[in-house]
Amino acid sequence: MKIQYYIECSKPLTKTSGTAYVCADNHYYYNNPRAAAAVVILNESNKILVSKRAIEPRKGTYDLPGGFIEPNGQLKML
Ligand SMILES: [Zn+2]
Repeated sequence: MKIQYYIECSKPLTKTSGTAYVCADNHYYYNNPRAAAAVVILNESNKILVSKRAIEPRKGTYDLPGGFIEPNGQLKML
């Protein structure tokens, strides 16, 4: 599928690598659907633990702890 415009701002996308695209506003889009996992951790006061992204895209924004599952990786219930 050819990716031409970012879905939120409708600006044209430029391909930057095999699966990555970016618009003039620095919105990134990755055309590589992969399995991922994230967790929601609440403390006794019902406050949510969040992490702050250290890398792009969206460096410095808050996020839930998690990440992509590596190819041939396995999900395990602990
Ligand atoms: Zn954009």
